[in-house]
Amino acid sequence: MKQIAIISGKGGTGKTTLAGSLAYLFENHVMADCDVDAPNLHLLLNSEKKESYEFFGNKKAEITDKCIGCGRCLINCKFDAIIPGEIYEVDKYACEGCGVCKLACPVDAVNLKKGKSGNFYYSTSKNLSFCHAQLLPGEETSGGLVAEVRKLAQKKAEQEGKDIILIDGAPGIGCAATSSMVGTDFAIIVTEPTVSGIHDLERIVETAKNLRTDFYIVINKFDINIEKTMEIKHWCRKENIEILAEIPFDKSVIEASRNSKPVIFMKDSISAKKIEKIYNKMLEKLFRR
Ligand code: SF4
Ligand code: SF4
Repeated sequence: MKQIAIISGKGGTGKTTLAGSLAYLFENHVMADCDVDAPNLHLLLNSEKKESYEFFGNKKAEITDKCIGCGRCLINCKFDAIIPGEIYEVDKYACEGCGVCKLACPVDAVNLKKGKSGNFYYSTSKNLSFCHAQLLPGEETSGGLVAEVRKLAQKKAEQEGKDIILIDGAPGIGCAATSSMVGTDFAIIVTEPTVSGIHDLERIVETAKNLRTDFYIVINKFDINIEKTMEIKHWCRKENIEILAEIPFDKSVIEASRNSKPVIFMKDSISAKKIEKIYNKMLEKLFRR
């Protein structure tokens, strides 16, 4: 089973635009949207949910009616997660599940329970299989939820005889991003020529190197700032990093997202042509391994 992640050091670089088009270019694969905090690939794939699962993340404290209101949990909680009252309560968004309140409680009124943190889904769109998720607001266990999406994608790929998993990764360098990338055959890092874009590129490259994941770069909207594009190219040459493609700014990308369709379907789109080239290069790299 081959796995490829499309990632970026920050949101808004065009990662999902690329992933949404590759979803239609690849064949015999499963798509996985691992941007569980702000998923939007489903908007481009027009998919229909077939299976839904609950995700239980970190443990949270719960105070039962055994509580005698002594306040020891309030004094000892370092996360200000205890709400005083006749029977004390826990602010589940602030609780880190450390268990100190349970240890402090003289009457065993505190239970630690895994709380629901999100949902993950198996959906289909025509002949495309698609796994995705949504983290609940305020929850922080996104890395664990990404792992569930990837496990489900792997299970579906095995059941359906698919040989590639294409991952739209979480942006940034946090645990959701690393969970999206770890163990893949290679990652495509999408960047843009801005000051913050270069900074974020350096951080995600560092992360990929730490994970020992191979990667290639795509510079999106390269012509909005030629000077910064040259800076990225010089840096990549110095670091011995291969740039797979440079995509120019293209109004048809905006038009395509306005119509909730991948840019690959836009007639005469320069981005569509570039993405087809990226697809061919990805195939070459994948099957040369
Ligand atoms: S488990 Fe830890 S963070 Fe949560 S309420 Fe208890 S002491 Fe506070
Ligand atoms: S320590 Fe136990 S009994 Fe005391 S306020 Fe907290 S939950 Fe209630």
